[in-house]
Amino acid sequence: MPPAAAPDTAAPLPAASGAAAAAAGAPPKARASGPARALEAMGLTSPLALALHLPLRYEDETRLTPLAEARPGQTVQVEAEVVDTQVQFRPRRQLVVRVAGDEGEPLVLRFLHFYPSHQKALQPGTRVRVRGELRGGFFGLEMVHPHFKALPPEGAPLASALTPVYPAAAGLPQAYLRKAVAAGLARADLAEVLPPGTVPAGLPALRPALQTLHHPPADAPLAALQDHSHPAWQRLKFEELLAQQLAQAQSRQERARHRAPVLSARQGGLHERLLATLPFALTGAQRRVAEEIAADLAAGRPMHRLLQGDVGAGKTVVAALAAAVAIDAGWHCALMAPTEILAEQHFAKLLQWLQPLGVQVAWITGSQRGKARAQAVAAVAAGQAQLVVGTHAVIQQDVHFARLGLAVVDEQHRFGVAQRLALRRQLAAAPEPGGATVEPHLLMMSATPIPRTLAMTYFADLEVSTIDELPPGRTPIVTKLIADQRRAELIARIADAVGEGQQVYWVCPLVEAVEDTPEGGPGAAARGKPLAELRNATETHAELAAALPGHGVGLIHGRLKAAEKAAVMARFKAGELAVLVATTVIEVGVDVPNASLMVVEHAERFGLAQLHQLRGRVGRGERASVCVLMYSTPLSDTGKQRLRAMAETTDGFEIARRDLEIRGPGEFMGARQSGDALLRFADLAEDAPLLAAARAAAARLLAEHPAAAQAQVRRWLGRQVDYLKA
Ligand code: ADP
Ligand code: MG
Repeated sequence: MPPAAAPDTAAPLPAASGAAAAAAGAPPKARASGPARALEAMGLTSPLALALHLPLRYEDETRLTPLAEARPGQTVQVEAEVVDTQVQFRPRRQLVVRVAGDEGEPLVLRFLHFYPSHQKALQPGTRVRVRGELRGGFFGLEMVHPHFKALPPEGAPLASALTPVYPAAAGLPQAYLRKAVAAGLARADLAEVLPPGTVPAGLPALRPALQTLHHPPADAPLAALQDHSHPAWQRLKFEELLAQQLAQAQSRQERARHRAPVLSARQGGLHERLLATLPFALTGAQRRVAEEIAADLAAGRPMHRLLQGDVGAGKTVVAALAAAVAIDAGWHCALMAPTEILAEQHFAKLLQWLQPLGVQVAWITGSQRGKARAQAVAAVAAGQAQLVVGTHAVIQQDVHFARLGLAVVDEQHRFGVAQRLALRRQLAAAPEPGGATVEPHLLMMSATPIPRTLAMTYFADLEVSTIDELPPGRTPIVTKLIADQRRAELIARIADAVGEGQQVYWVCPLVEAVEDTPEGGPGAAARGKPLAELRNATETHAELAAALPGHGVGLIHGRLKAAEKAAVMARFKAGELAVLVATTVIEVGVDVPNASLMVVEHAERFGLAQLHQLRGRVGRGERASVCVLMYSTPLSDTGKQRLRAMAETTDGFEIARRDLEIRGPGEFMGARQSGDALLRFADLAEDAPLLAAARAAAARLLAEHPAAAQAQVRRWLGRQVDYLKA
C-alpha cells in the first residue's frame, strides 16, 4: 500500500502520490503543476531524495572581476552601469545594452530573445551585476545573453557559496529545482546512524558533506568537487557502498540459516571413480576449486558459489565431480546451459564420463516435444534420472525434481533475470523425506570473469572460486586485426589452412533465434538487422564453399532446428567439415580441439567479452591457433581501441577489466541485471579502496551494531532491498 507521505529513503519510489510533492518540500501548489510533476517524474519525491540530487557543476557568483582585468574567453561576473539601451533590427532584432565599468570601460550586452521587462530593468543609470562569457566583438568586449541582476542603489551582497547547477528535465527550471533541493536538504533526516569509527577517518559527517556538495564555499577546491574526489563526495560514496554491502551480507546471513543436504565425498565413492577414469589429471587449480566446492557441499548450508575460470580452463569436469558427490549421496543434480548446442555438448560429455559408472543421465531442452519431453519429465519426477542436463527448459514449471541436491548453471552470465528468478523458485526448499525442508546447493560457472570490485559489489552474497591456470599443452592464440578489404587474401589463407587439415570457424554477427537466447542475455544485445545478416552468413557460406572445392563447408545459426544444429556440429566435430560458418550460437562452450583458425567478421560489432568467448573456441588443441578479427572501415577510435585490446591480451580478466572500463558495470552485467544501476554515487573502477573499507565496516556493523546496520540499509535502499536479492 502506498504510504500517506513518501518515507524518507534515498530510493526513489515508483508512482509518486499527490502527497509526495508536499513532502518534497516543493513550493506548495494545490495540484502538481508542471515543475512539481517534473520533480515527481524524476523520483524526487522525498526530502532525502532531493538532498541526494547532486549538482552537475557549479557557477561562481561569489566574486566580481573588475572589467579592466577581464579578458575575452573568460566567464566572469562584473558590475557596471547602464549607459544606453536600445532595440536594434540589424542583423536581426535584438536588445543591445551598453554598460560601463567603474573606470568607464565599455561592455556591450546583447539579448536576442528579450521581453519589455528586460528593457525596463536596464534603464540608463541602473547599476547591474552581469555574469557570462566575454567575447571580443567588433565594437569591443561583449556578452551574449548574460545573466543579469539590476542592483538597488545600496548594492547587494555577493553569493557566499558557489551556485549549484542540477540535472534537470524539461519544464523544470533551475531556480525551482534549487529551491526544492534546498528545502529537501533542510528537512531530510540526516542524523548520523553509524557508530563512531565506522566511517573512514577524514570524511565529514553526512549533513555537512551534503551541505558542501550543494553549496560549496567560495574557496572550495572545484576540481575535487567535479571529479568526485572531494571528501564530501567520498563520504556519500562510502554511505552508498556500505548500505549495499550490508544488504548483501544480510542476504548471505539469511541463506546461512537455511538447511541443505549434507553431501560428503565418500572414500572410493563415485567422484573418485570418475577421477580415475578421466583421460587427464586435474590441474592444481581444478583440484583446489573442487575441494572448495566439496567443503561447501558437506557443510549442510546451501552453497552459493561462482566458479570462474577463463575459457578452456576446464570447469565442466569440476562440475561433473560435484555432481558425482551429490549423486553418490543419493541426491539428484541438474546442469543447465544457456544454449542447446552447449547443453547437448555437456550431455554428450557427461554421458561419456558418468554412464559407464552407472549414473542415469537425462536430457531436457526447449525444443523437445510431446512424448520425448513427457518421458524426460516423468523420469526426473520419478527420481530415475540422477543427472539432468539441458537448457533453461530444465527449470520450467512442469519439471519437478524428486530429490534435487545440486543445481549447476553454466555460463551463468548468459541467463537473464527471468531465468534466475525461475531457478530460485525451483530451488526454494525441496522437501526432505523426514518432512523438513532443505534447499539445493547452487554452483554457477562463468568464463566471463567478474572483476574483483564488481564481484564484491554485485555478488557479495556469493562465494567465488577461480581456476587461474589452463590445462597443460595449450598453445597461445595469436590475434590479428585486418580490414575487410583484405577478405580475398584471407580466404586464400584459409584454403591453405584447410589443405593442411586444419579446421576453421568463420563467425558472422547474427541475432540468434529466440529459443536460443535467454532473455536479457548478451545475444539479445547483438546489434543490427537480423535478415540482412542472415544473408551475410548464408552468402559467406556460399562464397567459402565455392572457394574451397573438395572441402566440407557447414553453416550453423540459431534459426536451424535443434536437430539440424546438432547434426552440423557433429559433422564439424568429426572432421567432415573443414569450415564452419556460424553465428554466435557457437559463442560459449563449444569444444572442437582440432579447430585452430577463427575468423570473426565485423568484429567491431561484438562486445569484448563475446569476442573473448569466441576466440576461446580455438587454441584447444596442439596446433598453434590464430584468431582473425576482421573489421569494416572506417573504424571509430574506440572501436580501434577495443580491437587492439583483444589483440594485446588473451587474459580474460584483463579483457573484463578493460570492458568494464569502456562500458561501465551496468552494461557489463547486462543492463537489466544490474538492478537499475545500483550505484549512483560510487564508481567501481575508481572507488575500489572505499569499497574495501565499506566491506570491512559492513562486517563489523552487522556483528556489533545490528540496529545501525538496519537503519543504514533502510535509509539508502528502502524497498530496493528485495530486488537486490534476485
Ligand atoms: P571451460 O572452462 O571453458 O568450460 P571445458 O570444461 O570445456 O572448459 O574444458 C576444455 C577442454 O579441456 C575440454 O576438452 C576438457 O576435457 C579439457 N580439460 C579439462 N581439464 C583438463 C586437464 N586438467 N587436463 C587436460 N585437459 C583438460
Ligand atoms: Mg564451459
